[in-house]
Amino acid sequence: MAEEKKLSDIGWKDFKKLPLSEKGAYFHGKHTLIAQQFTRAEIEELCMLATRIKRINKRREGANFLKGLLSDKRAMLYFAQPSSRTYLSHNAACQILGLDTMDVRDQKTSSEVKGETPEDTIRTFSSYADLIIMRHPVGGFAERVAWMMAHTGREIPVLNAGSGADQHPTQALLDVYTLRRSFENIGGIDGKHVVFVGDLARGRTVRSLAWMLSLYKDMTLYFIAPESLQIGQDILDQLDEAGTKYVVSEDFASAMPVADAIYMTRIQDEWDVEGESSTTDASDYHIGAEHMDIIKDTCAILHPLPRRQEISTEIDNDPRAVYWRQMRNGMWIRAALILKTFGREQEANQYYDDYKPEA
Ligand code: ASP
Repeated sequence: MAEEKKLSDIGWKDFKKLPLSEKGAYFHGKHTLIAQQFTRAEIEELCMLATRIKRINKRREGANFLKGLLSDKRAMLYFAQPSSRTYLSHNAACQILGLDTMDVRDQKTSSEVKGETPEDTIRTFSSYADLIIMRHPVGGFAERVAWMMAHTGREIPVLNAGSGADQHPTQALLDVYTLRRSFENIGGIDGKHVVFVGDLARGRTVRSLAWMLSLYKDMTLYFIAPESLQIGQDILDQLDEAGTKYVVSEDFASAMPVADAIYMTRIQDEWDVEGESSTTDASDYHIGAEHMDIIKDTCAILHPLPRRQEISTEIDNDPRAVYWRQMRNGMWIRAALILKTFGREQEANQYYDDYKPEA
């Protein structure tokens, strides 16, 4: 990781102009705002910590120990866009670690309806909380919040739980964690073929995850989508720079047999400007019982959820359908991330080494 830099030392305009690869140095160890701020070693460390927390939490004594770790902290969950899993898993992660939580899930219930700026609203939250977990429709707003707080003298950590159609770094962490667990007995993530399907243009989870996977060796990423919903050139440029192989195609059928993981997504029509999703035929970007003999026996099927028709419910009980486990993994990796954000991971590691809770 590059040398740490301070958000309080840079003006907003200069910060905004920085390439993603340079922004991470300003967040490191404090905020989680973009997928590109993570190194592979940091991701691996979080995955290991997540598994340790999960195991410690299995027994009452362990759960009580975890609950004591951050019982002096409060988290504000500010979700200015709909959310089920990301909200609940962050909330549950806070509860595991003993943080009290407060939330605003509907801007209509905050003073924003009285004309308060989002910036002032967030500054208000930071007066009561030690951590802000936020989801916002405006891309880059979480970064703006972190920058702003560094300039108000109360720079509490900000976790980006989804911003615009661009970034969803904590989802990417849970996706990598899920892939890691799925490939545990087949050599880990390196060298695998991961097939992304659906709305890749506006799927922020895909955008964050594709980049994170470029940190692994010999990967081949497939981007399978109708032309109008294909992955952005900015992500392909990042993959080129990282030397990660990729295939851009509309042909799902050919990619299925080679896939080690298939990452399905829904059409993100909330970002339509003129109802363009309704004119896009996405019916081929679907997986169901008829495909189960074509895909590998070890293939992992993921989805950030919510799903619509792109995955048939009839495959839900197939062991390769890992999307329900993926959802639960979100709670453990977010607990790991929050613990690490407060620099208290050593205590959990020590407890794990002392008591060696079973798998
Ligand atoms: N839950 C994910 C997100 O917030 C995926 C989705 O909504 O389709 O981006």
